[in-house]
Amino acid sequence: MKCRRCQKQAVVALPSHNTAFCADCYLLFFKRQVEKAIKDHKLLTQNDKVVVAISGGKDSLALTWQLANLGYDVTGLHIDLAIPDSSEKAREITTNFCKKFNIKLKILEIKNEGLAIPEVKKRIRRPVCSVCGQIKRYYFNKFALDHGFTVLATGHNLNDEVARLLSNTLRWDTAYLSDQGPLLPAENGFMRKVKPLYRLTEFETANLCYLVGIEYGFTPCPYSSGASFTYYKQLLDELEFNQPGRKLQFYEGFLKRGQKAFKLLEQKQGQELNPCPECGYPTSGELCGVCRIKKMMGVMK
Ligand code: SF4
Ligand code: ZN
Repeated sequence: MKCRRCQKQAVVALPSHNTAFCADCYLLFFKRQVEKAIKDHKLLTQNDKVVVAISGGKDSLALTWQLANLGYDVTGLHIDLAIPDSSEKAREITTNFCKKFNIKLKILEIKNEGLAIPEVKKRIRRPVCSVCGQIKRYYFNKFALDHGFTVLATGHNLNDEVARLLSNTLRWDTAYLSDQGPLLPAENGFMRKVKPLYRLTEFETANLCYLVGIEYGFTPCPYSSGASFTYYKQLLDELEFNQPGRKLQFYEGFLKRGQKAFKLLEQKQGQELNPCPECGYPTSGELCGVCRIKKMMGVMK
Protein backbone atom coordinates (compact mmCIF):
# COMPACT_ATOMS: atom_id res chain seq x y z
CA MET A 1 0.00 0.00 0.00
CA LYS A 2 1.34 3.42 -0.92
CA CYS A 3 0.99 6.76 0.86
CA ARG A 4 -1.71 8.79 -0.87
CA ARG A 5 0.27 11.96 -0.52
CA CYS A 6 3.87 11.10 -1.43
CA GLN A 7 3.65 7.52 -2.82
CA LYS A 8 6.18 6.18 -0.29
CA GLN A 9 5.41 2.94 1.57
CA ALA A 10 2.33 3.59 3.75
CA VAL A 11 2.42 2.66 7.46
CA VAL A 12 -1.14 3.61 8.48
CA ALA A 13 -4.38 2.82 6.64
CA LEU A 14 -7.42 5.03 7.45
CA PRO A 15 -10.57 3.52 5.92
CA SER A 16 -12.83 6.29 7.25
CA HIS A 17 -10.84 8.80 5.23
CA ASN A 18 -10.40 6.31 2.40
CA THR A 19 -6.65 6.81 2.53
CA ALA A 20 -3.26 5.59 3.78
CA PHE A 21 -0.13 7.49 4.84
CA CYS A 22 3.58 7.11 5.43
CA ALA A 23 4.84 8.27 8.87
CA ASP A 24 5.62 11.88 7.87
CA CYS A 25 2.38 12.38 5.98
CA TYR A 26 0.44 10.78 8.86
CA LEU A 27 1.82 13.41 11.26
CA LEU A 28 0.77 16.09 8.79
CA PHE A 29 -2.72 14.54 8.54
CA PHE A 30 -3.03 14.50 12.36
CA LYS A 31 -1.87 18.09 12.67
CA ARG A 32 -4.32 19.23 10.01
CA GLN A 33 -7.25 17.52 11.73
CA VAL A 34 -6.41 19.37 14.97
CA GLU A 35 -5.91 22.67 13.11
CA LYS A 36 -9.26 22.22 11.35
CA ALA A 37 -11.05 21.56 14.65
CA ILE A 38 -9.44 24.66 16.17
CA LYS A 39 -10.25 26.86 13.16
CA ASP A 40 -13.82 25.63 12.52
CA HIS A 41 -14.89 26.15 16.12
CA LYS A 42 -12.54 28.98 17.14
CA LEU A 43 -11.20 26.82 19.98
CA LEU A 44 -7.84 28.53 20.59
CA THR A 45 -5.69 31.48 19.60
CA GLN A 46 -1.91 31.80 19.85
CA ASN A 47 -2.47 34.31 22.71
CA ASP A 48 -4.19 31.71 24.87
CA LYS A 49 -2.60 30.30 28.00
CA VAL A 50 -3.67 26.69 27.66
CA VAL A 51 -3.86 24.15 30.47
CA VAL A 52 -4.27 20.55 29.31
CA ALA A 53 -5.81 17.95 31.61
CA ILE A 54 -3.30 15.09 31.41
CA SER A 55 -4.47 11.73 32.74
CA GLY A 56 -1.46 9.82 31.43
CA GLY A 57 -3.57 8.11 28.73
CA LYS A 58 -2.75 8.30 25.03
CA ASP A 59 -5.32 10.96 24.14
CA SER A 60 -4.27 13.61 26.66
CA LEU A 61 -0.59 12.98 25.88
CA ALA A 62 -1.14 13.16 22.10
CA LEU A 63 -3.13 16.37 22.53
CA THR A 64 -0.47 18.01 24.69
CA TRP A 65 2.26 17.05 22.23
CA GLN A 66 0.30 18.34 19.24
CA LEU A 67 -0.66 21.68 20.83
CA ALA A 68 2.92 22.28 21.97
CA ASN A 69 4.09 21.35 18.49
CA LEU A 70 1.69 23.89 16.98
CA GLY A 71 3.33 26.58 19.13
CA TYR A 72 0.61 27.07 21.76
CA ASP A 73 1.61 28.07 25.30
CA VAL A 74 0.77 24.76 26.98
CA THR A 75 0.97 23.60 30.61
CA GLY A 76 -0.05 20.10 31.65
CA LEU A 77 -2.13 19.56 34.77
CA HIS A 78 -2.19 16.08 36.27
CA ILE A 79 -4.42 15.19 39.21
CA ASP A 80 -2.97 12.45 41.41
CA LEU A 81 -6.09 10.68 42.67
CA ALA A 82 -4.21 8.53 45.23
CA ILE A 83 -5.69 5.30 43.82
CA PRO A 84 -3.42 2.29 44.56
CA ASP A 85 -1.10 1.33 41.67
CA SER A 86 -2.90 3.15 38.87
CA SER A 87 -2.34 6.72 40.16
CA GLU A 88 1.35 6.11 40.75
CA LYS A 89 1.81 4.73 37.24
CA ALA A 90 -0.23 7.51 35.61
CA ARG A 91 1.81 10.14 37.44
CA GLU A 92 5.09 8.53 36.40
CA ILE A 93 4.04 8.34 32.73
CA THR A 94 2.89 11.98 32.77
CA THR A 95 6.07 13.19 34.45
CA ASN A 96 8.32 11.27 32.03
CA PHE A 97 6.37 12.54 29.03
CA CYS A 98 6.61 16.19 30.13
CA LYS A 99 10.34 15.80 30.79
CA LYS A 100 10.98 14.14 27.43
CA PHE A 101 9.06 16.77 25.44
CA ASN A 102 9.96 19.74 27.63
CA ILE A 103 6.39 20.58 28.64
CA LYS A 104 5.48 22.53 31.80
CA LEU A 105 3.66 20.31 34.31
CA LYS A 106 1.69 20.94 37.48
CA ILE A 107 0.57 18.09 39.71
CA LEU A 108 -2.34 18.43 42.06
CA GLU A 109 -2.49 15.87 44.86
CA ILE A 110 -6.11 15.24 45.67
CA LYS A 111 -5.24 13.75 49.07
CA ASN A 112 -4.07 17.24 50.11
CA GLU A 113 -7.66 18.38 49.58
CA GLY A 114 -8.86 15.58 51.89
CA LEU A 115 -10.39 13.81 48.89
CA ALA A 116 -8.18 10.76 48.22
CA ILE A 117 -10.47 8.66 46.02
CA PRO A 118 -10.17 5.41 48.06
CA GLU A 119 -11.30 7.37 51.16
CA VAL A 120 -14.15 9.04 49.28
CA LYS A 121 -15.22 5.63 47.93
CA LYS A 122 -15.64 4.29 51.48
CA ARG A 123 -18.04 7.08 52.39
CA ILE A 124 -20.35 7.39 49.39
CA ARG A 125 -23.28 5.34 48.19
CA ARG A 126 -23.14 6.50 44.54
CA PRO A 127 -20.83 4.81 41.98
CA VAL A 128 -17.32 6.11 42.68
CA CYS A 129 -16.66 7.04 39.03
CA SER A 130 -19.38 9.68 38.99
CA VAL A 131 -17.94 11.30 42.14
CA CYS A 132 -14.36 10.98 40.91
CA GLY A 133 -15.37 12.60 37.60
CA GLN A 134 -17.09 15.43 39.47
CA ILE A 135 -13.99 16.03 41.64
CA LYS A 136 -11.66 16.06 38.60
CA ARG A 137 -13.87 18.49 36.64
CA TYR A 138 -14.06 20.77 39.68
CA TYR A 139 -10.30 20.90 40.28
CA PHE A 140 -9.35 21.25 36.60
CA ASN A 141 -11.72 24.22 36.39
CA LYS A 142 -10.57 25.73 39.69
CA PHE A 143 -6.88 25.33 38.91
CA ALA A 144 -7.28 26.94 35.49
CA LEU A 145 -9.19 29.92 36.94
CA ASP A 146 -6.91 30.39 39.96
CA HIS A 147 -3.71 30.30 37.89
CA GLY A 148 -4.66 32.72 35.13
CA PHE A 149 -5.13 30.24 32.28
CA THR A 150 -7.51 31.27 29.53
CA VAL A 151 -8.67 27.83 28.40
CA LEU A 152 -8.80 24.21 29.56
CA ALA A 153 -8.19 21.55 26.89
CA THR A 154 -9.12 17.88 27.25
CA GLY A 155 -8.19 14.87 25.11
CA HIS A 156 -11.69 13.59 24.29
CA ASN A 157 -11.54 11.88 20.90
CA LEU A 158 -14.15 11.09 18.25
CA ASN A 159 -14.98 7.67 19.78
CA ASP A 160 -15.66 9.30 23.20
CA GLU A 161 -17.69 12.12 21.74
CA VAL A 162 -19.87 10.02 19.41
CA ALA A 163 -20.53 7.40 22.12
CA ARG A 164 -21.59 10.20 24.47
CA LEU A 165 -23.78 11.73 21.76
CA LEU A 166 -25.50 8.41 21.13
CA SER A 167 -26.02 7.84 24.86
CA ASN A 168 -27.42 11.37 25.36
CA THR A 169 -29.68 10.98 22.32
CA LEU A 170 -31.06 7.60 23.41
CA ARG A 171 -32.06 9.24 26.71
CA TRP A 172 -33.05 12.54 24.98
CA ASP A 173 -31.09 14.29 27.69
CA THR A 174 -31.62 17.83 26.45
CA ALA A 175 -29.37 19.45 29.08
CA TYR A 176 -26.39 17.27 28.12
CA LEU A 177 -27.15 17.57 24.40
CA SER A 178 -27.18 21.37 24.64
CA ASP A 179 -23.71 21.31 26.21
CA GLN A 180 -22.07 18.70 24.04
CA GLY A 181 -19.48 19.86 21.53
CA PRO A 182 -15.80 20.74 21.11
CA LEU A 183 -16.27 24.21 22.63
CA LEU A 184 -17.88 25.21 25.91
CA PRO A 185 -17.51 28.98 26.23
CA ALA A 186 -16.49 30.53 29.55
CA GLU A 187 -19.54 31.50 31.57
CA ASN A 188 -20.83 31.73 35.14
CA GLY A 189 -17.51 30.76 36.78
CA PHE A 190 -16.78 27.99 34.28
CA MET A 191 -13.54 28.11 32.34
CA ARG A 192 -13.67 27.89 28.51
CA LYS A 193 -13.25 24.20 27.68
CA VAL A 194 -12.11 22.78 24.35
CA LYS A 195 -11.69 19.34 22.79
CA PRO A 196 -9.33 19.76 19.83
CA LEU A 197 -9.08 15.97 19.16
CA TYR A 198 -12.77 15.53 18.41
CA ARG A 199 -12.13 14.73 14.72
CA LEU A 200 -9.61 11.96 15.54
CA THR A 201 -10.31 8.39 16.63
CA GLU A 202 -8.70 6.35 19.42
CA PHE A 203 -6.81 4.41 16.76
CA GLU A 204 -5.49 7.63 15.28
CA THR A 205 -4.23 9.07 18.60
CA ALA A 206 -2.61 5.71 19.44
CA ASN A 207 -0.84 5.87 16.08
CA LEU A 208 0.43 9.36 16.74
CA CYS A 209 1.87 8.22 20.09
CA TYR A 210 3.57 5.29 18.43
CA LEU A 211 5.08 7.38 15.63
CA VAL A 212 6.42 10.19 17.84
CA GLY A 213 7.60 7.94 20.68
CA ILE A 214 5.06 8.81 23.38
CA GLU A 215 4.84 6.05 25.99
CA TYR A 216 1.42 5.64 27.49
CA GLY A 217 1.56 2.26 29.25
CA PHE A 218 -1.54 1.89 31.32
CA THR A 219 -2.46 0.33 34.69
CA PRO A 220 -6.26 0.15 34.80
CA CYS A 221 -7.98 1.82 37.72
CA PRO A 222 -9.11 -0.94 40.15
CA TYR A 223 -12.49 0.80 40.48
CA SER A 224 -13.15 0.88 36.75
CA SER A 225 -15.94 -1.40 35.63
CA GLY A 226 -14.60 -1.21 32.05
CA ALA A 227 -14.19 1.64 29.61
CA SER A 228 -17.05 4.12 29.68
CA PHE A 229 -19.69 3.67 26.99
CA THR A 230 -18.08 0.37 25.94
CA TYR A 231 -21.25 -1.01 24.40
CA TYR A 232 -22.04 2.14 22.44
CA LYS A 233 -18.45 2.27 21.22
CA GLN A 234 -18.75 -1.30 19.94
CA LEU A 235 -22.03 -0.52 18.15
CA LEU A 236 -20.51 2.56 16.57
CA ASP A 237 -17.38 0.67 15.50
CA GLU A 238 -19.60 -1.81 13.67
CA LEU A 239 -21.43 1.07 11.98
CA GLU A 240 -18.12 2.67 11.02
CA PHE A 241 -16.85 -0.64 9.63
CA ASN A 242 -19.86 -0.93 7.33
CA GLN A 243 -20.11 2.78 6.55
CA PRO A 244 -16.64 4.37 6.83
CA GLY A 245 -16.77 8.03 7.87
CA ARG A 246 -20.22 7.68 9.51
CA LYS A 247 -19.07 8.63 13.04
CA LEU A 248 -17.61 11.96 12.05
CA GLN A 249 -20.63 12.73 9.82
CA PHE A 250 -23.03 11.97 12.68
CA TYR A 251 -21.11 14.21 15.07
CA GLU A 252 -20.52 17.06 12.62
CA GLY A 253 -24.21 16.88 11.61
CA PHE A 254 -25.20 17.27 15.26
CA LEU A 255 -22.88 20.27 15.68
CA LYS A 256 -24.27 21.96 12.56
CA ARG A 257 -27.96 21.20 12.95
CA GLY A 258 -28.81 19.65 16.32
CA GLN A 259 -26.86 21.43 19.03
CA LYS A 260 -28.39 24.90 18.54
CA ALA A 261 -31.92 23.55 18.91
CA PHE A 262 -31.06 21.94 22.25
CA LYS A 263 -29.33 25.12 23.41
CA LEU A 264 -32.46 27.16 22.69
CA LEU A 265 -34.62 24.64 24.50
CA GLU A 266 -32.35 24.69 27.56
CA GLN A 267 -32.24 28.51 27.61
CA LYS A 268 -36.02 28.42 27.92
CA GLN A 269 -36.21 25.82 30.66
CA GLY A 270 -32.64 25.64 32.07
CA GLN A 271 -31.83 25.86 35.77
CA GLU A 272 -30.30 29.05 37.10
CA LEU A 273 -26.77 28.71 38.51
CA ASN A 274 -25.40 30.66 41.45
CA PRO A 275 -21.92 30.72 43.01
CA CYS A 276 -21.42 28.17 45.81
CA PRO A 277 -21.27 30.17 49.08
CA GLU A 278 -18.18 28.20 50.20
CA CYS A 279 -16.02 28.15 47.09
CA GLY A 280 -17.71 30.16 44.34
CA TYR A 281 -18.16 27.21 41.96
CA PRO A 282 -21.39 27.48 39.96
CA THR A 283 -24.19 25.40 41.39
CA SER A 284 -27.96 25.06 41.27
CA GLY A 285 -28.02 23.78 44.86
CA GLU A 286 -27.19 25.37 48.21
CA LEU A 287 -23.61 24.04 48.16
CA CYS A 288 -21.73 22.79 45.10
CA GLY A 289 -21.26 19.02 44.70
CA VAL A 290 -17.60 19.00 45.77
CA CYS A 291 -18.24 21.12 48.88
CA ARG A 292 -21.01 18.65 49.79
CA ILE A 293 -18.52 15.77 49.46
CA LYS A 294 -15.95 17.72 51.53
CA LYS A 295 -18.54 18.32 54.21
CA MET A 296 -19.41 14.64 54.28
CA MET A 297 -15.71 13.75 54.53
CA GLY A 298 -15.32 16.12 57.46
CA VAL A 299 -12.79 18.22 55.51
CA MET A 300 -15.06 21.24 55.74
CA LYS A 301 -17.23 22.16 58.70
FE1 SF4 B 1 -11.91 7.72 38.80
FE2 SF4 B 1 -13.56 5.76 37.96
FE3 SF4 B 1 -11.64 6.70 36.36
FE4 SF4 B 1 -11.02 5.22 38.50
S1 SF4 B 1 -12.20 4.53 36.70
S2 SF4 B 1 -10.02 7.10 37.82
S3 SF4 B 1 -12.56 5.93 39.97
S4 SF4 B 1 -13.41 7.84 37.11
ZN1 ZN C 1 -18.34 24.77 46.67
